Amino acid sequence: MRNIEVRERFTAAYNELVYDAWTLSRNYGSPTYDDKVRERGKYGSCGQTLYVPRLGREVRHFCRRPACPSCSTFWGRALGRKLVSRYPNGTPSGDFRMITMIQCVTSDLDDAFGRFKSSRKALSNAVGYQCSRGLDRAGWRDFGLAGALEIDHFLADDFSEIGSQKQQQYRDLGYDPNTARGSQWVVTVHGVVHLGKLGEDTIRTSLRSVAPIIHFENLFGWQALDEAAESIVGYAGKVAIETSLIDGQSREWPMEALKEYLLAVKRNSHGRQGFRVLVNPKSDTSSKKKSAYSRVIKHSNGNDDDAMPVVIL
Ligand SMILES: [Zn+2]
Repeated sequence: MRNIEVRERFTAAYNELVYDAWTLSRNYGSPTYDDKVRERGKYGSCGQTLYVPRLGREVRHFCRRPACPSCSTFWGRALGRKLVSRYPNGTPSGDFRMITMIQCVTSDLDDAFGRFKSSRKALSNAVGYQCSRGLDRAGWRDFGLAGALEIDHFLADDFSEIGSQKQQQYRDLGYDPNTARGSQWVVTVHGVVHLGKLGEDTIRTSLRSVAPIIHFENLFGWQALDEAAESIVGYAGKVAIETSLIDGQSREWPMEALKEYLLAVKRNSHGRQGFRVLVNPKSDTSSKKKSAYSRVIKHSNGNDDDAMPVVIL
């Protein structure tokens, strides 16, 4: 689905949330209604240039919403670039892989975010343990990963249409098609990982507590390393609001799922923080020399991921 269509679908979902809030309170001035209108306004004005009286000039506004295709791509690309900058120039692309970590299937979207946050802690603990006590400490000190949480959705009634490989994976994760009802949410992390001397099997085994299913793919050979990392994490950061089905078919998320997603993201994540995964290599020396990129970002507002200017509406 093209970015413009994703934006249109989410805009329609924001409109419905505003309408729902009004229906509930019958009061235009209620805090819930105002909140929903504000949310919709921020999302809708992303990419526009607005005059900011406080600064006395025009500033391009970015909404930073995880549901926004342009902000998500920007954020993901910056994260991919950041990881690569932690390795010496000339590090071969062959030391990196695309990684997909499938963590769980759940009918509760808040649970999906909770499980993702726990797995992020488990990842940090597992890498820390391997660096200090593992058999291959030197290899693990070079380990690095930049990625993004991807939430996929399917309806329990559509389970038989989602392809046999996915069906098996979800069953392996404990999904029971006989008892499941309604919306189901799949928690996956996509990203770029530095393997270095560690083999794929070593990482898969050591990170079993983080994700039961882990796949690797080589980077595309024609891309420079930084471009490859940017495009992988940039793409991973975007929300795909379609369920892939067998025979190349796809089905759009129903409106109720879009609304549930927007509400759950608001509850569980401040901007993009609830979506990011970043493990820097322990052998990193770049924090002392700092790339021009990270220096600019740190200087601008102290938060590496919030590089975009923002306007408070
Ligand atoms: Zn945006």
